[in-house]
Amino acid sequence: MKKNSSNAMALAPNTSNKRETVCIFGTGDFGRALGHKMIQSGYPVVFGSRSTQTSSLIPKDAEVLSHAEAAQKAAIIVIAIQRQHYNFLTPLAEILHGKVLVDVSNNLKINQYPESNAEYLSQLVPGAKVVKAFNTVSAWALQSGALDASRQVFVCGDDMEAKQMVMDIVRALGLTPLDQGSLLAAQEIENYPLQLFPMWKFPIFLSLGLTAFFFFYSLIRNVIYPYVYEKEDFSFFIAISIPNKICPVLALVLLALVYLPGVLAAIIQLYRGTKYRRFPDWLDKWMLCRKQLGLVALAFASLHVLYTLVMPIRSFVRWRTSNQIISQVLKNSTESLNITYAWLSDSYLALGILGFFLFVLLGITSLPSVSNNVNWREFRFVQSKLGYLTLILCTAHTLVYGGNRFLSPSSYRWYLPNTYMLSLIIPCIVLVVKFVLILPCLDKPLTRIRQGWERNPQYSE
Ligand code: NAP
Repeated sequence: MKKNSSNAMALAPNTSNKRETVCIFGTGDFGRALGHKMIQSGYPVVFGSRSTQTSSLIPKDAEVLSHAEAAQKAAIIVIAIQRQHYNFLTPLAEILHGKVLVDVSNNLKINQYPESNAEYLSQLVPGAKVVKAFNTVSAWALQSGALDASRQVFVCGDDMEAKQMVMDIVRALGLTPLDQGSLLAAQEIENYPLQLFPMWKFPIFLSLGLTAFFFFYSLIRNVIYPYVYEKEDFSFFIAISIPNKICPVLALVLLALVYLPGVLAAIIQLYRGTKYRRFPDWLDKWMLCRKQLGLVALAFASLHVLYTLVMPIRSFVRWRTSNQIISQVLKNSTESLNITYAWLSDSYLALGILGFFLFVLLGITSLPSVSNNVNWREFRFVQSKLGYLTLILCTAHTLVYGGNRFLSPSSYRWYLPNTYMLSLIIPCIVLVVKFVLILPCLDKPLTRIRQGWERNPQYSE
């Protein structure tokens, strides 16, 4: 243990040899895990507890004292106790005067109390310097060392010196402190661990809605229609054929929806003649979840690839192929190769392969580990230029797949067009509008507006 401690001290940014004692109130899961980590990093730890009896769970190098005794031994006290028990601190106000109190608490619900737990703590002990930290790190991660997903520690507080002391501890534990400002930020920090994939809600609900719509649409066209008119049972299409219609449609529509808000924003800016007016809320929110929309689209595209790969081993496909061969044998004739169809089929496959390749590249560049290593211009090049190229290739893949069937009456069942035709509406609109927007007569004013020029300046000099 001693060897570990000295190693950690050597690596830590704080150059002083001796670490200051840290007091932790509460010997619960979090207090113990944090204490354990601090001892590993070379900090002497003293616990303040209602019971001074040590147990095998408490790190063996730590002392356990009463709250008052423990508080006197350290300048920094971590309050690893639920908020509802904070009132036991009021009688200790005198001892805690001038100390740094670290609030690590979380709530069960977003905005559960009118004020944050950290602000409540500073009201209870007005003489102390309260700092919010560590609440987004779990006891399990601290104990098991699995901190990869939660290396960032949000820190906020009104006293700069106190905040600095806490940030030094955070760094010494091998974590990354992120200064979030004054204690006013505490409520937001307390809400972070309670949020459930906030940026994913819209993409997921939208894809669920679209999946349901296209599923029933394809069911009507491909299963119910043949059953009603030809008494053919194609219900097994539900397993592979219909999903393989829905996945590419969703991939293409969602990819187009990644680029649609940018196009709308450009139109709004051109119309207003300024970039200094806020976009409507719905557009702001839409723009913020474009990465998630793109990743969901990529997931559907990958499923489409997998479904397509199993096509040749489907019993229906093998039955249809052998039927075609048998009918040629019976007729004693060989169908000649239709060059136009061969071209269409190869081109549509080639466009699909290239589109999917670029789609995967886009997905890879959106990973933080990759995007952190490219500069802003490179990131924009990949996400915008390559993104549009992906959209063009995927749209072309679908258009060529349609080939000459768009106007054929047999493509319509109960006046309903094929699913892939519907999927082309939004991508084609986005591409056409984008094409219009890059015309010099619109691109030039738009670039000026984005550089700060205003048609009717609000504040003229
Ligand atoms: P816990 O296991 O319930 O422990 C809380 C400790 O508070 C108890 O062990 C007890 O310590 C003390 N306590 C309980 N009732 C008390 C009372 N009436 N008066 C004074 N002290 C009392 O909770 P925990 O999981 O360690 O969480 C502690 C704090 O850390 C919470 O605010 C939580 O939101 C926050 N947190 C926890 C995690 C996590 O992964 N668990 C992650 C981030 C933040 P003594 O018996 O020693 O007095």
